[in-house]
Amino acid sequence: MIKNNVQKVLSELPGHVELVAVAKSRSVEEILEAIDSGVRIIGENYVQEAEEKFSVIGPRVKWHFIGHLQKNKVKKAVKIFNMIETVDSIGIADEINKACASINKTMPVLIEVNSAKEKNKSGVLPLDAETIIKNILGLPNIKLLGLMTMGPLLENPEDYRPYFKETKTLFDKIRISHDIKYLSMGMSDSYHIAIQEGANLVRIGTALFGPR
Ligand SMILES: *Cc1c(COP(=O)(O)O)cnc(C)c1O
Repeated sequence: MIKNNVQKVLSELPGHVELVAVAKSRSVEEILEAIDSGVRIIGENYVQEAEEKFSVIGPRVKWHFIGHLQKNKVKKAVKIFNMIETVDSIGIADEINKACASINKTMPVLIEVNSAKEKNKSGVLPLDAETIIKNILGLPNIKLLGLMTMGPLLENPEDYRPYFKETKTLFDKIRISHDIKYLSMGMSDSYHIAIQEGANLVRIGTALFGPR
């Protein structure tokens, strides 16, 4: 089942779009089946859960952190992850930079954008993105590679479109002066629309592994 799902999704993605298989709550066995079927990037929301799986699966795939990162988990996170997609404050960027410096690593990061401008949601407001980027550029052990957004929780996939559009507009604006390349948006129900709106990294769980 996972094999068919992975192959179907991969066959639908244009060549320039990379798949992040979102594996929160999935077992090592399920993840290995996805890897055997062609998955090359695993997305995890929780550091401890990722550590346990990483200890078995290891660096044969890339690991992306897509959850809300707490400061006390940064040291562990920088050891396993190849990208942190959810940087949304200068404070967390500083911590990542420090932890990476101590192990001689440079961490690729995306800035998480709160594209729906929801209260109590993680992510930076679109207006604040350039400020945080200016600060990140001074951090030698962080490499800014792009933007990520979730959007609000919506019933109708088509309703995600304005949030994806807004994030793409911001991406293009930042790209004028910075060398960024990844725009991570779209989940199981919305990745087709996200790709139409310019996503080149899609984060998909349910459509690969089934309902959680
Ligand atoms: C869970 C999750 C996804 C995947 O959601 P699905 O609907 O299962 O595809 C994508 N991005 C983030 C940040 C998530 O937490």
